[in-house]
Amino acid sequence: MHELEAKVHGVVIPDRGPGATIVGVSELPDELAARVLRDAGLRVTPQRQAIFACVREGDGHLTADEVHQLLQERVPGLARATVFNALNDLVEAGLLQRVDVLGGPARYDRNLDEEHQHFRCLSCRGLFDVRPRPAPPLDLAEPGFAVHRVRMVIEGLCPACAGPATA
Ligand SMILES: [Zn+2]
Ligand SMILES: [Zn+2]
Repeated sequence: MHELEAKVHGVVIPDRGPGATIVGVSELPDELAARVLRDAGLRVTPQRQAIFACVREGDGHLTADEVHQLLQERVPGLARATVFNALNDLVEAGLLQRVDVLGGPARYDRNLDEEHQHFRCLSCRGLFDVRPRPAPPLDLAEPGFAVHRVRMVIEGLCPACAGPATA
């Protein structure tokens, strides 16, 4: 693993609730973030930096449209397509993770922890990082399929929506 990459993946974010200790890029200082972009082979532009920072500093599961909206003032004239393209580039460079939520737009996640999954609250529509314990057992009966990764979106009620009885 590349030294800088190791550093990025080694950033440990303090406990944010059910996700316990998670690893991500949200707390990179801006200079390091620019180096990370460059190191990933991406051209460092002010727009791309702002988009990366927006996801890093946001709630962690923003849609492209939300990023576009949040940056309206900070980056005047920012095109929607630029946001989409930059987010896709960041995903391909391994700096963000794309979360596909059934029936909704893709969300962009700064949490690169491979083992975390997502919990979608059916009431407030919030998307939460969770780490199911134990890891989901997966035993494919069909021969010939090689499992590389399992991604889940679990649906239910978050503690706030479920109320005190089940929290
Ligand atoms: Zn909720
Ligand atoms: Zn996540």
